[in-house]
Amino acid sequence: MPVSRHSTLIRPLVQRLHPYVPGEQPKIKGLTKLNTNENPYPPSPRVLAAVKAAVDGRLRLYPNPTAEALREKLAKLHRCAPENIIIGNGSDELLALATRAFVEPGGVIQFFTPCYSLYSVLAEIHGARARPVPLAEDFALPPPRDAQAWQARVPLTFVTTPNAPGGRGYTTPELEALCRAHKGVVVLDEAYVDFAQENALSLALKFPHVLVARTFSKGYSLCFQRVGYFVGSAALIGALQKIRDSYNVNGLGQIAAIATLEDLPYYRRNFQRIIAARERLTEELCALEFVVLPSQTNFILVRPPAFPAEAWQEKLRRQKVLVRWFKDPATRDFLRITIGTDEEADILLRAARKLL
Ligand code: PMP
Repeated sequence: MPVSRHSTLIRPLVQRLHPYVPGEQPKIKGLTKLNTNENPYPPSPRVLAAVKAAVDGRLRLYPNPTAEALREKLAKLHRCAPENIIIGNGSDELLALATRAFVEPGGVIQFFTPCYSLYSVLAEIHGARARPVPLAEDFALPPPRDAQAWQARVPLTFVTTPNAPGGRGYTTPELEALCRAHKGVVVLDEAYVDFAQENALSLALKFPHVLVARTFSKGYSLCFQRVGYFVGSAALIGALQKIRDSYNVNGLGQIAAIATLEDLPYYRRNFQRIIAARERLTEELCALEFVVLPSQTNFILVRPPAFPAEAWQEKLRRQKVLVRWFKDPATRDFLRITIGTDEEADILLRAARKLL
């Protein structure tokens, strides 16, 4: 059907939309997949057993609509009340809900760039105005009172902390200063915090306008099940609860996340293995004259030597190694490499040496 036929059926905003572009999920096997920040280790055996045990006739029933048992477990872990927590179909869903709960169409959504590329897409979908505020060259946040750089009164500000795709971590005092200066809602997106030196969860329980976003996807090897959550004041969480879908979190996802929280030592060991692999890969790539930015996440942003980053991505793919390249002017000279196992690091290093 020609595009002009659609144009009367589809909202102009949607016709113009630039959708989010996810990393490649290859159909063929045998690739070393370091492109989408997945955890290289499987979920704990207890999680796999819990999910398998739940696959029976109960699949005909609706799951708990507010993921009550999971919220209770998380509340204990974070020393808050279940009313301070909302579960989402991945944290992505909650980021989208925040735009709808806190920003009028036409309002402003602010974020520090480079950052998670979904925020600008969410602004576009909502008919809001995106206000990208550039980070410093070393990905530092602008000073909290730098009125030139960022505005304190916009209804919603997203902060990716630690930063993605840069990897830089931010201290709790600097995030606190930013939150204190801000009048609108601040979402601290801590998707990668399990690999960082500190987290800012306390700010979500201290300030009524601050939300912390967490996910089971990265540290907890559960991308496939789509479970994320926000922590924050009962007022903000209650507003989000009002507008979510009735059964937004699938039942097996709830079961898997609960079982995850019952085996935290397993995951903490994996965080340490990934952090160690990150430090080792950083050293080895530096020896090959890559510039590697310091990272507190499960990926590194690197500027490769010899030829452009885009060409590296293609050449590595031909060597069956997937990494991510972003066209954005601020990051186009870089590759983002997910930290996998030590064996995967060896495969990447062998491919890089061959190309050099
Ligand atoms: N925030 C950041 C910074 C991310 O990179 C991602 C994953 N792409 C998410 C949030 C969303 O994670 P999920 O929806 O899997 O919880």
